[in-house]
Amino acid sequence: MSADRTALTEKVNAWLAPRAAEMEALLKELVNIDSNSFDKAGTDAVGEHIAKLLTSEGITVTRIANDTYGDVFRAEVSGHGQNQHVLMLGHRDTVFAKGTVEKRGYSRQGDMAFGPGVADMKGGLVANIFALRAIKAVGGLPFPVVALFTSDEEIGSPTGQPEIEAAARGARAVFNSEPGRVTGNVVTGRKGGASFHITIKGRAAHSGANHKDGASAIEALARKIVRLHALTNYSTGVTTNVGVIKGGNTHNTVAPWAEAELDLRFMTLAERPGLIAEIEKIVKTEDVPGTSGEIVTKSLFLPLEEKHSKSLFELYQKEAAAIGFSVDGEFTGGCADSGFTAALGVPTLCGLGPVGGKAHTDDEFCRLETLLPRTQALAATICALG
Ligand SMILES: [Zn+2]
Repeated sequence: MSADRTALTEKVNAWLAPRAAEMEALLKELVNIDSNSFDKAGTDAVGEHIAKLLTSEGITVTRIANDTYGDVFRAEVSGHGQNQHVLMLGHRDTVFAKGTVEKRGYSRQGDMAFGPGVADMKGGLVANIFALRAIKAVGGLPFPVVALFTSDEEIGSPTGQPEIEAAARGARAVFNSEPGRVTGNVVTGRKGGASFHITIKGRAAHSGANHKDGASAIEALARKIVRLHALTNYSTGVTTNVGVIKGGNTHNTVAPWAEAELDLRFMTLAERPGLIAEIEKIVKTEDVPGTSGEIVTKSLFLPLEEKHSKSLFELYQKEAAAIGFSVDGEFTGGCADSGFTAALGVPTLCGLGPVGGKAHTDDEFCRLETLLPRTQALAATICALG
């Protein structure tokens, strides 16, 4: 590390050091805006709040319109000469319904903050915003630093994915501020995942009078579920789960229809085509004569393979130690936007937000004392990438 860079890191961290209370105040403001993924007005309101704050500091924010979900907001602090940028990712949407804030808005007990999305990932948004402000306050880095604020991660980033991929192409590194693990660790690996809707068509018949004229969609689905679940292999990390089934009309009618929701998780990009081909084959096989099956992919997340996070993690660990905390890398079966950028081959590290837990529940919490040091470590790691 050059002497220059050390001085820059110190300046950035010194700017952040007295701002813990300000960070918490922003966390409270962001948590207290309902922003379910399907609530465009809500996710846009969070985006506008962030944009107002950043533009008042002289940071350029552009808004990418979206008809269905919240707009994407892209903030950038330009660099001095080097083109290859650094990208920070954060999603503004939560899984909580509109009206949750009214029932249980932001609250605090000692070091623990509570409220919808307080960890996943409004805490991470605060980290990204303050890291970017700190970098702007010291006059920027040799390279541009971009922060993308998306709004549909909790439903698989159907419209966020292309924006994330476009923003990540050619980047020197991507940092995703999803919540830090309860252990205090960051995330160095994630499974890829996909969800599917399966529809089976059969033929109705009176199950007493004309049983053999029928073709049971429920029986066909049941046979497929057994074969789909048999794809699970804990030693390779592949799992399948049919989590929802529906079908049939009455107990005395051979079922003319059945439906299922399937979740698939996998470890590497290379496994994906083979697994999907196998799933399609199972669904389309005519298990019961007279039935047919269709499958539609509902969402797809790509894996964060550890080979793409290794170098960034080592750098982050060093910067964290200099700030005064020790941290390890952790693998999770949960998916996130970081998989999209890692799948492009761009070095990617995840789980850089403040430490939190019980995400997607009423007991979700964020450990406030981790907000400042983890933001400092994030900003210092970015500075070290010159
Ligand atoms: Zn999240």
